[in-house]
Amino acid sequence: MFDNLTEKFERAFKVLKGQGQITEINVAETLKEVRRALLDADVNFKTAKEFTNTVKEKALGRDVLTAVSPGQLMTKILHEELVNLMGGEEVELKYQGNPGIILMSGLQGSGKTTFSGKLANFLKNKKGKNPLLVACDVYRPAAIDQLHVLGEQLGVEVYSNKEEKNPVKIAEAAIQHAKSKGFNVVIVDTAGRLAIDEQMMNEIADVKNAIKPTETLFVVDSMTGQDAVNTAKAFNDRIDFDGVVLTKLDGDTRGGAALTIKTVVDKPIKFVGTGEKMEALDVFYPKRMADRILGMGDVVSLVERAQEQFDEEEARKLQKKIQKNQFDFNDFLGQLQQIKKMGNVKDLMGMIPGMGKALKGVEIEDDAFKHIEAIILSMSPLERENPAVIDGSRKKRIAKGSGTNIQEVNKLLKQFQDTRKMMKMMSNKKNMMSMMKQMK
Ligand code: GDP
Repeated sequence: MFDNLTEKFERAFKVLKGQGQITEINVAETLKEVRRALLDADVNFKTAKEFTNTVKEKALGRDVLTAVSPGQLMTKILHEELVNLMGGEEVELKYQGNPGIILMSGLQGSGKTTFSGKLANFLKNKKGKNPLLVACDVYRPAAIDQLHVLGEQLGVEVYSNKEEKNPVKIAEAAIQHAKSKGFNVVIVDTAGRLAIDEQMMNEIADVKNAIKPTETLFVVDSMTGQDAVNTAKAFNDRIDFDGVVLTKLDGDTRGGAALTIKTVVDKPIKFVGTGEKMEALDVFYPKRMADRILGMGDVVSLVERAQEQFDEEEARKLQKKIQKNQFDFNDFLGQLQQIKKMGNVKDLMGMIPGMGKALKGVEIEDDAFKHIEAIILSMSPLERENPAVIDGSRKKRIAKGSGTNIQEVNKLLKQFQDTRKMMKMMSNKKNMMSMMKQMK
């Protein structure tokens, strides 16, 4: 995410390296690079110019403390201004109501249906709500089916009516249905077109007027750069939405949309989509996004994701096993699966400060643990519980079964032994203390 922008900002700061003081000249030079980085990220010219002007005023107007280097000071100002550019404080989605009604808008292919599913999942599992999904695309039966598939996968009911050709009627009937069946949030997915057209806008505006949503969201593909911003403007002028959802931020997006939308439409970004899976949804926090853009990582989000997957009871059991040196391949597999649930590996690594840069250009498969999993799954129950029995012929069988080779099996066995040793050591407080002492 935003790798290029991060790298270019770093290059811009090089100008200040070793400089003892902020001066008009070195600020101008740095900001020239910053502006170039923003333009390359597809931020529009006006926004980029205003942004660098503000940063300049702040940098030159501030008493330079001797304790901070010009580089640090500039990073701080740039961080503050990036946060401002993206809207300052986060703005929560409004979903309370009887029922709360959330209306989707956006072009076809922007990720509306996928996001509707993700949002239902989020409200159900994280906010304890009982959502109803509504398919209002009267033109593409496939879109209705797509929502049904998602609903089934998530265990969320989907309301649709392929006979009815008036989206307003479908939406109204769905809300009645929700009221009578006790659903407390209704998520209405509407039809999109490949490009902005009058009929689509009218249709969404009609649905909006009829059902008076608690929140209208505009969903947009971040990969489309400035087009995303232009589309946002057109939709906002017509239907005055409440918040933006930026999808496909996991792709090779340059970041322009995330940085510009707030300035252009004055509506906050509320969520970002970071993958095709139903869990790949993040609440948008301007501060955390600025951290990531400046290569500071996003430890807070990383810890939050870990906590979501964390089951205390399981953790306690695991700790006991570790202490008794009984940690086996079943546990190892369980841990891998938990990490996988946290998201795409490269994305996770990018949240660790400094890692984004280190990983630049490194190919990490989405399913980096595929081979390890295959090897463990090819082991018999006895082998998983007691890896010591794995001899040469067993190794051969496991390699064949998993479509890997003996070297890979050996490597995993070695890794497993090392992990086990390390875990044993760390679980013992005394050892831990002596390890810490050694590190001092
Ligand atoms: P709609 O026409 O607006 O309803 O768009 P869809 O929900 O059908 O999404 C279009 C395509 O984008 C599908 O292939 C989705 O899987 C994909 N997609 C949606 N959101 C994301 C995302 O956050 N990341 C990635 N990589 N793909 C996404």
